[in-house]
Amino acid sequence: MAATALAATAPKKNLYENVLERFDRAADLIKLDPNIRVILANSNNELKVNFPVKLDSGKVEVFKGYRIQHNNALGPYKGGLRFHPAVNTDEVRALAAWMTWKTAIAGIPYGGAKGGIQFDPFNYSDSELERITRRFTFALGDNIGPEYDIPAPDVNTNAQIMAWILDTYLSTMPPHERQRCTHVVTGKPILSGGSEGREKATGQGVVNLIELWARDHDFAVNTSTYFVQGYGNVGSWVARLLEPKGAVLVAVEDASCAITNPNGLDAQALTKHVEATGAIKGFAGNYSEVDHATFMSTQADFFIPAALEGQITAETAPDLNVKVVFEAANGPTDPDGGRILRERGIDVLPDILCNSGGVIVSYFEWLQNKRSEFWELEKVDGKLLAKLSHAYDNVRAAAGEFDCDWRTAAYVVALRHLERVYKERGIFP
Ligand code: NAD
Repeated sequence: MAATALAATAPKKNLYENVLERFDRAADLIKLDPNIRVILANSNNELKVNFPVKLDSGKVEVFKGYRIQHNNALGPYKGGLRFHPAVNTDEVRALAAWMTWKTAIAGIPYGGAKGGIQFDPFNYSDSELERITRRFTFALGDNIGPEYDIPAPDVNTNAQIMAWILDTYLSTMPPHERQRCTHVVTGKPILSGGSEGREKATGQGVVNLIELWARDHDFAVNTSTYFVQGYGNVGSWVARLLEPKGAVLVAVEDASCAITNPNGLDAQALTKHVEATGAIKGFAGNYSEVDHATFMSTQADFFIPAALEGQITAETAPDLNVKVVFEAANGPTDPDGGRILRERGIDVLPDILCNSGGVIVSYFEWLQNKRSEFWELEKVDGKLLAKLSHAYDNVRAAAGEFDCDWRTAAYVVALRHLERVYKERGIFP
């Protein structure tokens, strides 16, 4: 109740302020060195480019593109590119910082970055989308690079977009340099240097973590029910991978509508429909369409937000009717929403742990490109599970050590790791 009143009266914090609130909480707990704290509270580089593209009509439109490089103490900058009208400096800055924490928790040698273009790709033809992607890549120029900053897919971008980025970047290289630059981007199609298992990797990682959490909580995945928000790459892969395990998908929402069936929705058939039409609307299955508030109060064992930020808030958290939230999306829970979930005893597996499968397999793709290797799916999946289990154990141990929630514990793991590296290397000059 108190939190709802707070949301009504206090101005909403922006996304990066939310990141800092959580960062400060963990930094206070571990008494993070103040000099390192001030470095990590800021991004290293923030690039904004305005670039022109000729549309099919012959008219020229100027687009706004972003790349924010938060930190590279652990290795090259790494993070996805998002094509969405809501992309702006504040959002990209938050997403870039989350990448720094995520790669530190996952124990992979990358820093954090994020980028995107502020536009709605659904309003453009495929050839326009290709020209927009290529012109943006050209505008980024040397600000990305295989050993410097490596983009990957995110909301409304996919393997095809990564292939265009790769081709554009390589076209700007001298011919004899091209072959050693294919790791400038990850999440590529397999024949263009992508990795087995990358497309499903974020969803696969979420499912691995659900199973690790279930093992610790005596929870039976095979008789469980759940609902998913967002049915794109991440949401649909989680559902496709959970289906054979017996978990029942009782509701789904995407940007077009929300649908529910307490007896279960067919994840494979729904994926085929979305692949053919771009949205869940019009799916030929057995279900009722419901409004957003009804969707958010779906009764189930767990909820998987796999769409955008700020979905679990002071307004929606009181209505969630689940035992646990697995954050497949980045930033789906704001601090007020998180406080309410804690008060209500609802567990949260935080985004910076829960959706790290994507960047982990991106790292495997990068390694394969550097070594001109192709790994079998079994090897990729096995190495992913090993990395995630290690990260999960570290976060669980930190939650026990500080008697704190798992989000704070995940930040603790990340900040300790970064602090150790800064202390070893010192601050230049
Ligand atoms: P996507 O573009 O493939 O799918 C996004 C989905 O969200 C679509 O189904 C879309 O309709 C839905 N959506 C958009 N706005 C919505 C709204 N207002 N309400 C309900 N649904 C809405 O994107 P994705 O790659 O699956 O990414 C989803 C989330 O996962 C994002 O937060 C992203 O940052 C995060 N993530 C993605 C990856 C990856 O490898 N793709 C890795 C880590 C984290």
